[in-house]
Amino acid sequence: MRELTHFIGGRHVKGTSGRFAEGFLPMTGETISRVPLASAAEVRAAVENAREAQPAWAAVNPQRRARVMMKFVELLNRDMDALANLLAREHGKTVPDARGDIQRGLEVAEFCIGVPHLLKGEYTTDAGPGIDLYSLRQPLGVVAGITPFNFPAMIPMWKFCPAIACGNAFILKPSERDPGVPLRLAELMIEAGLPAGVLNVVNGDKEAVDALLDDPDIRAVGFVGSTPIAEYIYARGCAHGKRVQCFGGAKNHMVIMPDADLDQATDALIGAGYGSAGERCMAISVAVPVGEATANALIEKLIPRVESLRVGPSTDPSADYGPVVTQAHLEKIRSYVDIGVSEGAKLLVDGRGFSLQGYENGFYMGGCLFDRVTPDMRIYKEEIFGPVLSVARAENFETALRLCNDHEYGNGVAIYTRDGDTARDFSARVNVGMVGVNVPIPVPLAYYTFGGWKRSSFGDLNQHGPDAVRFYTKTKTVTSRWPSGVKEGASFVIPTMH
Ligand code: NAD
Repeated sequence: MRELTHFIGGRHVKGTSGRFAEGFLPMTGETISRVPLASAAEVRAAVENAREAQPAWAAVNPQRRARVMMKFVELLNRDMDALANLLAREHGKTVPDARGDIQRGLEVAEFCIGVPHLLKGEYTTDAGPGIDLYSLRQPLGVVAGITPFNFPAMIPMWKFCPAIACGNAFILKPSERDPGVPLRLAELMIEAGLPAGVLNVVNGDKEAVDALLDDPDIRAVGFVGSTPIAEYIYARGCAHGKRVQCFGGAKNHMVIMPDADLDQATDALIGAGYGSAGERCMAISVAVPVGEATANALIEKLIPRVESLRVGPSTDPSADYGPVVTQAHLEKIRSYVDIGVSEGAKLLVDGRGFSLQGYENGFYMGGCLFDRVTPDMRIYKEEIFGPVLSVARAENFETALRLCNDHEYGNGVAIYTRDGDTARDFSARVNVGMVGVNVPIPVPLAYYTFGGWKRSSFGDLNQHGPDAVRFYTKTKTVTSRWPSGVKEGASFVIPTMH
């Protein structure tokens, strides 16, 4: 069994707390690694290291910082296969899906190559008599990212690429469930030319997170994970005067209008509901067909597709999805299905008993499909994060829209229709941060921003795109004048341009 490390000051550092988490191979159920869980003292050492490295990095001109990102992109492409294999083994998703995880992070690194342009300030000459006014963006200092298990490449890159390109030093606290790829990404950044100490990876759990939240040298914290932890981190980080953005859980609806192409809608629901075993914050977990006829026709198409999903090991290129991340998570998903049955939802396809020959100890779950799910049920209200799709029937468009708007989460949503007017009305009135029109997983590209609404997000700026540059920098505005000769004397009145 391999003992993993932290990555501090440009090298691997053994954990000294004596506490470890188990790292699994979800496709077989084996324990493959011991993940060190940092103590508060180990976190502090990493922060001090980053604090020392940051001023010199901030002084590197933005074009040179951009060249590190350029090289990093090249190295990610070089090592894509090896990274995807490692990611799939630790997480459980299939190798092609793991490549997507890396690619969507790589695209944010590509965006950061434009950082010299993104950091340009504003300038007004002669804003007053002989007065010039300009603004500039400066890095915050040392910042931290705390990331979830489900995108172990993409989300760390969404955080550290913009932060570092803007001149900050970064402490990444990845999920303790799959830290192998984050550690490898830190090595690649060093190979790309990043000075030691600018990107550090500290493995850990609540103790490490609390140490980061309380550390006076950490200026900003970016978090992605479940809503209760997002809310906790937001409150504790803000109480310590930090800039904090936290992205939480989801329950994404897809509305299917009577005029939708039902074959397209079925394909979309199968991919977005069951891909990555449903362990995506942008997975569709609730289908909302409008009208009984639409619902009946949709269900008829969905049942055989859910029954014939190919669940396989992460290494099987023909698998639709692989195992879930841990045995504990598998049991949680199964118990949600039990709850749905006891709440009176109609279980049309039951994947609870699924077992894969030759991989009997792996964390596999067959696809489940519920019909007649209603808003009072826990399986409707709570995030299951597994291969379980609920159908919640709506009488008409307004009822469907109200379902999306009344749900406490507001990460993503989609509508399937052939009618532009309906789609436009839906996009305008839906109370959700990311909307797909005939697109089931509307994750915005790197040069837009990503963020949900309501209890899917805490804080006021989104991830990646221009918002990331705002989040990881502070604005300074300089008013300057070089008077010669004339002495105006002291003024006791607020200066105006009257
Ligand atoms: P999680 O909340 O269990 O863990 C996320 C991070 O928080 C990990 O690094 C973990 O070590 C840390 N953590 C866990 N418990 C903690 C505690 N008590 N105190 C301090 N830190 C703690 O989430 P997860 O299971 O790793 O990821 C799945 C969740 O993430 C889902 O809810 C999913 O919807 C959400 N997610 C959201 C987005 C988004 O952008 N909105 C994207 C991906 C995942």
